[in-house]
Amino acid sequence: MADEQITTIHKCHLCKRTFGLTPAKAMTIMTVMMDPETNLPLGMTVSGVLREPTPEAAARAVEAYVCSDCVDRVKQLKEFMDRPVGRFGTWR
Ligand SMILES: [Zn+2]
Repeated sequence: MADEQITTIHKCHLCKRTFGLTPAKAMTIMTVMMDPETNLPLGMTVSGVLREPTPEAAARAVEAYVCSDCVDRVKQLKEFMDRPVGRFGTWR
């Protein structure tokens, strides 16, 4: 037996795909806080809008693993949401 590289199997909370993690990789994997009630990342509403999580949601949130594919997707989503509001802000 060489080094103890125990691969643990985790289920991606977003796409439900299972993926293996070695302890070294588990240190770098991204986790998200999920609200088990809405099954959405903490602070995200059903419409995909981010807002401050309520204290109740923060209290019941659980840490969930996200596979690298979904991390990329979340990053893209964040970039999209971080864009300055353009033509959608014209109703004011
Ligand atoms: Zn995933």
